[in-house]
Parts: sequence; C-alpha cells; structure tokens
Amino acid sequence: MSAAATSVRPLALAPYACDPAASRGRRIAQAAAPTRNEFQRDRDRIVHSTAFRRLVYKTQVFLNHEGDLFRTRLTHSLEVAQLGRSIGRTLGLNEDLIEAIALAHDLGHTPFGHAGQDVLAECMHNHGGFEHNLQSLRVVDVLEERYANFDGLNLCFETREGLLKRCPLPVARWIERWEPGGIGARFLARQQPSLEAQLTNLADEIAYNAHDVDDGVRSGLISFEQVAQVPLIARYRDEALAEHPELASMKGRRLLFETLRRMLSAQVYDVIAATQARLAEHQPHNVDDVRAAPPMVEFSAAMRRDSAELKQFLFRKLYRHPRVSATTVLARQVVSDLFAAYTTDPSLLPADYREAPEIYRAVADYIAGMTDRFALREHERISGRRIFDAATQ
Ligand code: MG
Repeated sequence: MSAAATSVRPLALAPYACDPAASRGRRIAQAAAPTRNEFQRDRDRIVHSTAFRRLVYKTQVFLNHEGDLFRTRLTHSLEVAQLGRSIGRTLGLNEDLIEAIALAHDLGHTPFGHAGQDVLAECMHNHGGFEHNLQSLRVVDVLEERYANFDGLNLCFETREGLLKRCPLPVARWIERWEPGGIGARFLARQQPSLEAQLTNLADEIAYNAHDVDDGVRSGLISFEQVAQVPLIARYRDEALAEHPELASMKGRRLLFETLRRMLSAQVYDVIAATQARLAEHQPHNVDDVRAAPPMVEFSAAMRRDSAELKQFLFRKLYRHPRVSATTVLARQVVSDLFAAYTTDPSLLPADYREAPEIYRAVADYIAGMTDRFALREHERISGRRIFDAATQ
C-alpha cells in the first residue's frame, strides 16, 4: 500500500464510521482531490476560511481583551478537535470528519459569547430569528466567498450535518423544502446524526467544562477550593494529592492542572467504555443503522450525573458571577446598539451588506461575523461612546 493510500483512509475505520468514499457528497459536485479524501478537504477548507481566523478574537466566556491566556473560540475549537479525535480513534471513527466538525462547530458564534447570541436572537425575533448552530451552517453554506462558481465552502453532507446539532421542527421543515432529504430530514424522522457528529457534540461539553474551570480560577472569579467542592473535581484532586502529596504546599497551578488532566482522561475513557457498551448493545453495521438507533456516544450514567453537577456549579458561580454579568450587560448594549444603527441607517454598513435583499438578515450576518474588538470599535465609531472603560480594557 502506498504512503498516499494509507494517509487518506484511517487503517481501522469501523463499519459504523463515516467513510469519505461513501459520503453523501457536496451540494455542488466537485471532482475528487488527488491526495486528500473528502473529509480532509473539508477540514482544510475550514482552516483556510475567514470565519475560522475570526475565532481567535471571539469570546468563549471572558472577553478577548481581559487576558491573553483565556480560551478563545479558536483554542476551544482546537481542544474539541483533540478530545474528539482521541476518543474517535479508539472507537474506529473517522478522525478527519471529527476534526472538520470540531473546527467548524463554533463558526457561527457572535462576538461576546452567549450574551451576543441572545441579544441578536432577540433583535431578529420578528425577522427570521438567529441561532448560532444555524449560523455556523450559514457561514459554510453561504457567507464564505472563496470560490468562483458558488457561495460558501460547499462542504460534504456529513460535515454540515455535524454542525446542525439542534434544530426546531419548523426550521427543519424549512430546510427540507430547499434541501429535500438533506440535513433537516433527520430531525423530522427523529433520527441521530453520525457517531462522529455525536462525539464532537460531547467533546465540546467535555472541553468547556474543563477549560472553564481553568479560566475561572485563572480569572480569580472562582477559587480552586470552591470548585473542589464539586465531587468530580474533588475526586481527581484527591487522587493527584495521594500520588503527589507535595502538591498541597506548592505554589502555582500544578494541582489544578493535575486535577483537570486526570478528570479529562477519566472522561475520555468513560465515553469510550460507555459508547463501546452501546455499540455492543445496538450492533450497528453501518451509518444507516447508527442513524436509526438511539444516541450511542454518551457518558456513563454516573459520569453524566457528575458532569451535570460541575456544569451547574459553573453556571451558578462563574457564568452568572456579577463581574461576568456586568460585562454581559455591556456586550448586550453593543450588539443591540449596532443592530439598531445598521437597520435604521444601512449606509453605515459595508456596500455588499447594504445592498443585500433582506436587510435584517444582512445586519445579523454582519454583526455575527464580528470579533469582540471589531464590534467594540464599530460601536465607538457609530455611537461616539467607548462602552468598556479603561479599567476593563
Ligand atoms: Mg463549542
């Protein structure tokens, strides 16, 4: 077997994995590439996209200017890809597809994290709505302008399916009208996406639970002692201390990192074991069997409960911390002011947005594409006010 042949197909692809040679294809047919399979091509298209580069300057929890070491959407996406590939490799899934979905899964996120998404959804309430999963799809299907003969990146069905994690039925019906049998169909048939898509969704949760603890402690908004009251964290802290008692008296962050590293490994092994059990139970022979079966990439019941507890802690103590909430209020102000300004006076928009047929959608696309700092600069240009004072910059 030649080197090129071994590189395009994982050696141990399971029968229930997505095989690029059996992809449902692209919306616009394109000739095969000589050295890359279809999912590798998708991954490469995503990495070279404009929206991907913007992830560097988009907030995960902390605003981009609050510190250089906090996760951004880019580093988050890389962590999701790492965790997903690591689990997927063991399960015989397609790593290239997992990587493509992971790197694209947050492309539709607005500036300022969930605060930005929520206020943009409110602004668009009477104009077709806004939802970041759908926006990720819109970025790769419509908004990227890189090809002479089509809009978007023209990604494979399997990659696009992985981006549409959730979809209300009316939206699924709407997708089905312009793409019959496409990525909306599974919601209407109440079927599952590929295992690669299921896995990337869970890897997203594993990644943010762990890195939000790290970033939360780094920010000083929560203490390690506080988060160690959560049983899941306590378990791995105790394990680390039992093995390295000297960590208790050491300054610095090694105990936190030892704890989180052990927790991540345990969650990875837990997903592998729980998923293997589900695969043994349902015996899928191919991707169609996967789609018809219940979800199979899961935590064990015990880890699901522990993970939910950690998530609740983060909600209560970090995401709703007064300092995060104060930033959220300002971020909402920026997005709603921009939306009002552009829709009232479209001449404030760049020419290609100004001339779009649906002005509200064009404004939502423009704002959603902004990085945190671009949104702040635009807000200052339009309103003449600097909304984040020097203390927060
Ligand atoms: Mg994510």
